[in-house]
Formats: sequence, structure tokens, C-alpha cells
Amino acid sequence: MTPHLDADGHVEYLIYAGRDITARKRAEAELHALVDAIPQQVWTMRPDGSLDYSNQRCLNYTGLSVEQGQGDGWIQCLHPDDQQRIRDAWQISRKTGTPIETEQRLRHGTTGAYQWFLARAMPMRDEAGQIVKWFGTCTDIHEKKQAEEELRVLVDAIPQHVWIMRSDGSAEYGNKRWADYTTMTPQQYQVCGWLQAIHPDDRQRVLEGWQSAVQAGKPYEGEQRLRDGTTGEYRWFLARAMPVRDETGQIIKWFGTSTDIEEKKQAEQQLKESRESLHVLAETVPQLVWVRRPDGLHEYVNQRWGDYTGLTLEHMQSDHWAHLQFIHPDDHESNRAHWHHALDTGIMYEHEERLRNGQTGEYRWFLTRGVPMRDEAGQIVKWFGTCTDIEDQKRIEERIKESEERFRVLAETVPQLVWTIQPDGTAMYFNQRYYNYTGASPEQALGHGWSQFLHPDDSEQVLALRRHLLATGEPYEIEYRLRDGKTGNYRWFLARAMPMHDEAGQIVKWFGTSTDIEDQKRIEEILRQSQERVNALMKSKLIGITITEGEQIVDANDTFLRMTGYTCEDLRAGRMNLMHMTAPEDLARTRQAHQELAVQQSMTPYEKEYVCQDGSRLPVLVCGVIFQHSPLQAINFVLDNSARKELEQRKDDFINMASHELKTPLTTLKMQTQLVRKRLEKQTHHEAAALLSRVEGPVKQLERLVGELLDVSKIQAGRLEYIRETVDLDALLHEVADTMQQLSPTHTIVVRGATSCTLVGDKDRLRQVFTNLLSNAIKYSPGAETLEMDLSASPETVTIRVRDHGLGIPREQCDKIFDRFYRVTDLSRRAIPGLGMGLYIVAEIVKAHGGTITVDSVVGKGSTFTVTLPTRTSLSSPWIDREKQRSEP
Ligand code: ADP
Repeated sequence: MTPHLDADGHVEYLIYAGRDITARKRAEAELHALVDAIPQQVWTMRPDGSLDYSNQRCLNYTGLSVEQGQGDGWIQCLHPDDQQRIRDAWQISRKTGTPIETEQRLRHGTTGAYQWFLARAMPMRDEAGQIVKWFGTCTDIHEKKQAEEELRVLVDAIPQHVWIMRSDGSAEYGNKRWADYTTMTPQQYQVCGWLQAIHPDDRQRVLEGWQSAVQAGKPYEGEQRLRDGTTGEYRWFLARAMPVRDETGQIIKWFGTSTDIEEKKQAEQQLKESRESLHVLAETVPQLVWVRRPDGLHEYVNQRWGDYTGLTLEHMQSDHWAHLQFIHPDDHESNRAHWHHALDTGIMYEHEERLRNGQTGEYRWFLTRGVPMRDEAGQIVKWFGTCTDIEDQKRIEERIKESEERFRVLAETVPQLVWTIQPDGTAMYFNQRYYNYTGASPEQALGHGWSQFLHPDDSEQVLALRRHLLATGEPYEIEYRLRDGKTGNYRWFLARAMPMHDEAGQIVKWFGTSTDIEDQKRIEEILRQSQERVNALMKSKLIGITITEGEQIVDANDTFLRMTGYTCEDLRAGRMNLMHMTAPEDLARTRQAHQELAVQQSMTPYEKEYVCQDGSRLPVLVCGVIFQHSPLQAINFVLDNSARKELEQRKDDFINMASHELKTPLTTLKMQTQLVRKRLEKQTHHEAAALLSRVEGPVKQLERLVGELLDVSKIQAGRLEYIRETVDLDALLHEVADTMQQLSPTHTIVVRGATSCTLVGDKDRLRQVFTNLLSNAIKYSPGAETLEMDLSASPETVTIRVRDHGLGIPREQCDKIFDRFYRVTDLSRRAIPGLGMGLYIVAEIVKAHGGTITVDSVVGKGSTFTVTLPTRTSLSSPWIDREKQRSEP
């Protein structure tokens, strides 16, 4: 029926069209019957959402009448909590025209209990596409829902994140643990909201992985960091999801879990780091590092290993014993043995072996160590090993061994007691000499036992000093007495010790020696005493003492300095030279004395004159001895001789004066006596003349004495003159012998041999010489009957020996008899007169002739005086010619 409108809009007429719907009605009735037979609730709705039909099953369940359910009436059957949600869903569906599918609880009309139903509705459209009706069904899903609920409870109880995704990959559900962790509400996480919980850096990767899993319909597995909603921190999770398919194989859902793997991750990270550190370490350490499996194959060798041997890991991995080619043949056996022993026992091993440098071919000593690594079950999974280069250490050890050996040999060889002590003072070693000396056993002496051998008076001091020195580390030196085990006596020792330091400067031990200084101590004492004596001597006020090195005076006492006028300063400055200080005329004698000193180590005292600092002369008596050889030094004693010299001078002056004074009256006496005798004889007073002539003998004797006195004083003054003339020596000697024979009838003078020589000399003085010798020979051989004069000659010399068989002269006085006024005064010749001038003059005359006189004598047997004269002499002053003397007035 369609209304037709006029121009004003009013209905003008109705067009009615009728159609036969019998068939349709019948079909509807059949449909309703069919619908009622379906074991589901079936209903239809108008496009506005009002219910217009529900099947009997629907009415039976809800308990509503057809009318009650019409329109919006059906809403009241929904659980109050579901009503709004369903309304909203319907509104959307109606607007969009999309099919609707909802789950909701419907009240049972009779019991009032709610049961879960799945409502589905599809729109039906007319030809123009307009929705004319909605056809819907409600399927009882209560059991399924209950099972789901149970599952949910279960799922919430699981200590993992459990989540459900829809077939399109959008999120549907997250369990309580998920919600608690992320603090996300279902609204926040549903669809794609869950991505916000994932770490920004992981998000893209996770999304892509998930999408590709969804597309491929294959299980998903991925690791990602999830944000802890409470703390804001991220933790690592392992997400796994499996698709759930329907009977047709269509994916209907994804079930997923996320497991917290933060600790595992961290452990993994730590493991990774520690592996990396291990690797870095293995490459950094100065050792060759290797990892070997129990089957013997190498799993790893560090770069250093490769560099040293020149062998790569690949080589090593192809052969269980590849490394053996770098081990010294002599060490192969030990290497194998250690490895097998380690495998058998499973304990760490360590041994030394020589490894060859692949480049140079040289072997160096290494310390190889292997440590097993076990799994949780305690099985050894691999061996970690290092080879440490100990070549230098070995060498050092060897050197130490050698040096220790050398030390021991040395310690046993040296003539000292040798010991070592630890820094705490305990003794570790004594050489055999120590044990021999102390008589102690090692047990008695080692440690602290040694102190019992110290002298009780030294013990305290030694121990205190030792403690101090050990503490300070200063080298120490100390003297003490140590008991001789054999005698029980103590001897002085000098102990010296030096510390030995390690590289860090720490004292490792002390090396010490004890040297027996007992003798040295004694010598020191003697030296000290002798030094004291020398000092006392040097302080002598009477004797000047000098120490000379060659010509140089290196030391002198105050007395000498005072005598010579020099100062200590002169001495120190080396201004005191012996020769410079010697009077020129004494230089020869001084040199001679020094030669004697050098040869005989001492010199005969002699007289000389020093030239003092102010140029004055000082007569001295000097003698010296060598007292040190290197450098050669002599000690000289100098006696001021000036007083004696002065006295002598006065004596000489007196003798000179007396002899002159005596000579004149004596000459007068002699002349007068001769005159008186001649007169008496003229007047024939023979008896008186004879008496007077007796005076002539003593007068002659007196004259000879005065003459000798004069000679002596002339010799002293250097004024004795000689007359040069030609002398027939044999004639002269026979003349002297004849004269003496006449004067001395008691002895027979035998002249043997001849000189057959004429020499130049002073005839009177030579006569004086032999007269004197013969008269002495007679005088000192009172009991003898003969004396001999032996004459002999060589081309250069003549020799005259005067031999008697008289008293003889003691050996020690043989030299002295030629000295002025020297007489041998023993009992045997006490009665023999004399003044000790004869031989003095004789020696002087012989000397003036360039000759020598010596005596050879045996006491009680007799003496032989030997005069040797040169045949050719060049006689200088004090010689004067005979002619010249004659021409003189
Ligand atoms: P004197 O006037 O004492 O004889 P001399 O100078 O001639 O002095 O002699 C010195 C000393 O030598 C004498 O005192 C004497 O004891 C000793 N003498 C000299 N000639 C002989 C000799 N032929 N036999 C023993 N003694 C002698």
C-alpha cells in the first residue's frame, strides 16, 4: 500500500497491491518448527535492536513470555555486570553493520542462576543493502567458561607470566602475575598495548618476531626486557607462545608464557665476561697458556704459545702429542708421565721441562702446570695449563747453587770461623773450623747455642750490639773472646758480618767471619808498649834522635831540633836534609857511615859536625840502626859532643903547650949535661963523668916522650910535616934492627927477606915507625927470646911484618890500640910503662905514606904487626921536599 500525495502533501489516494503469501507463511511456520528443534536459543532483532522473535528454547530458559522478551525486555535476563558491555557492543555492531559475537551470562528463569552463553548475530540485508533484520543465536558455553575460569585461576597461580593472544596476534589476556609485574590494566595491555611494557631497544625486534610467527603460524620464542611497573627497572624474560588450532587447523588463539631469565642472563653475561676476561688474561699473562681436553687434544693455546713454538692451534688440534716436538727429548718421558698421572689421579700437576723456541731452535726451561676443571658431576672436562719461562730463574738457581758451593768451599778453606745467621739472629751455618775450635756439635752451636762459647764478660755486650745491628741492618764488627773447646782458654776474635739483601732490599741473611786476633792483640800490646818506650826515648832530653829516609830527616825529637836550631815546621816542610846539615869535611865520613848502615843494618858510632840552622857548627857523636825496610828508615842517635870536644881541645892545647914548654928546658938540660960531662972528662974526673952519663939515658927517654907528645899534638892540629926523600927501605930496616938489637940484648931480632925497594918517603918518620914497632915487640914480650922482622914485596907494595911471641892483645882491643893514648891495661902489663901514643903516631905516619897497618894477635902467643906501603905514591901536602927543607933557614 503506497499513499499518493498531492501538491500540498496531502494523501490523494492509496495504491494497494496484494500478493499471495500462503507459501511464505507456510515456509515461516516450517522455519519456526525447525528453529524450535535446534538445541540453541535462536532469535531475531529488528534493525533498531528490539527483539521481535525468540524460539521456544529461549523462552523456556529465560522463563519470559513472548511479550516480556519483546523490544528491550530481553536485557533484564543479562547479568547486571554484563548489561552495559552488551549494550555497547550492540551499538557498535548496529552502527557498523558488522556481525556481533559476545559472551554474557543469562539468568535461568526458574533457578535464577546465571549461565554463560555465546551470543552471535548476523545482519540480513535487502536488495538495497539495508539491514532488515538481525539473526542471532545463544549457545550455552557455561561449561567451557567454567573450565576457562578454572584455567584462569590456575594460570594466575603459575609463577610465570601467562598470556593469551588472539589469532590475529592482538593481546587478549595477561595473568595476574603479568598484571602485577607490569602494573598494566587489561585495557592498557590489550590489542597492542603490551608492547609498551617492552624495552624500547627490544620493541621493534620483538614485534617483528611475533608478527612473523603469527603469519607463519609457528611457535614463537624470543628474549626481551620487560619493564617492572613498580620499580621502572627492566628484567630479561624469555617469551614463548604456541598457537591453538581448531579442528580445521585454523589458529584460534596463542598461548604464551614469559619466564624471568634475568638471573640466567646475568649469569650468562658474567660467564661471557669472565670468558672474555679469561681470554684477555690468557693473552696478557707472560706465560704460554693452553687448555687441553682429557682426551689430550688442545682446545686453546694463547698467542704467546704460538709465537714461541711457531705452532698454531690447528696443528695442535690435529695431533694429541703435537706439543711433544717442542719438548726436549730428555723431557718427553717426564711430560707423558705427568700427564698420565694427572689423568689417573685428577690432581693438579707441575713439572719442569725444556721447550724449544720454534724460531731459534734454542731450548729454555719452563715450569708446566696443569689444573683440572670439573663439571657439576665432578667429571674433569678440561685441563687448564701454563708454561712459565723459568730459564733465568734456573740460571740464577744454578748460579746460586754454584755460588753456595763456592761459598761453602771458601768458608771451609779460609783460616777463619765462618757463619751465617738469619735476620732474627739464629745461626744457620758454621764452618768446620768453628766446630773444631769450639769443640761443639752443630746441635749445640746452631740456633742460639753459640752464645754459650762467648766469654761471660763479653756475652751481654755482644748480644746487645748484635741485636741493635740486626735491627738497623748495618754491617757489624765486634771483638769478643771465644772459648777454645780443647784448652778451655779464651782467645780474642774479631767478628765481622755483612747483610745479604734480596731484590726488594730485605735482608735475607748475614754472612759473618770471626778472625782469631789473639796474636794480633798481643802484638798490638807489645807494639803499644814499644811505642811507649820509643816515645819515652824520643822525649830524651840528652840524646837527639832522628828518623831518616835516605838523606832526608823525616822525624826528629825536640832535643835534636833544639841542638840544631831547626823547628817542627822545618821538619814537616822537609827542610832537614842530612847532607845539607853535615859539615863539608864530614860528608865523606857520613856517606861511609850510611853505606855501612845499608850493608850491616847499623853503623859504628862516629864523630862529625852538624851545620846548624844559624850556620854554626855542632860537634856530635852519631850512630844509627835500620829499623824499617820499606821504605828504608834508620833511627839515629845524636849526642852533643861539644863539651867533650872543647875539653879535648883544651887537653890538646895543654899537651901542645906542655910539650913545647918541656922541650926547651930539656934541650938545655941535655946540652948542659953533655957540656958538664965533656968538661969533667977533660979534667979527667972520669968517675963523675961516668955518673953524669947515666943521666943521658933518662934524658933521651924524656926527649923521646916529649917528641912523641909534640908529634901527637901536631897530628891533632894537622901540622905534622913529612919530608919527601928517597929511602932505601932494606938499609933503613936493617939499621933500625941493628940499633934495637944493640939496645936490647935480651931478645934476638931476626930479619928475614928483603923488600929490595927504594921508595919515596920520610926516612926519619919511617925509622920512627919500625923503631916503635920493634921496641913494642920487645917491651910486650918480656919472656921471649926472639922476634922476627919479615920483609917482602910485590910490584906495587912492600910488606914488613914485625912478629913477637909475647903477651898478645885481646881481640876486641886490636882496633883501639891505634887510638890516641889507648893502652891495654891488664894485669900482665901493668908494670910496663907507656903513654899510648906510639901506635897512634905510627898509624898516622903509615897513613901519610899511603900505607896501612894491621895487627894480628893471640893473647899469650904473640902479635904480628903488618905494615904495607905502596912503592909508588903521589904524596901531597903536608909533604915537603928534603932539598927545600935544607935550603930553609
Ligand atoms: P905504649 O906506650 O903503651 O906502648 P903504644 O901506642 O905503643 O903505647 O901501644 C899501645 C898499647 O898496645 C900498649 O899499651 C900495649 O898494651 C899494646 N901493644 C902494643 N904493641 C904490643 C905488642 N907487640 N904486644 C902486646 N901488646 C902491644
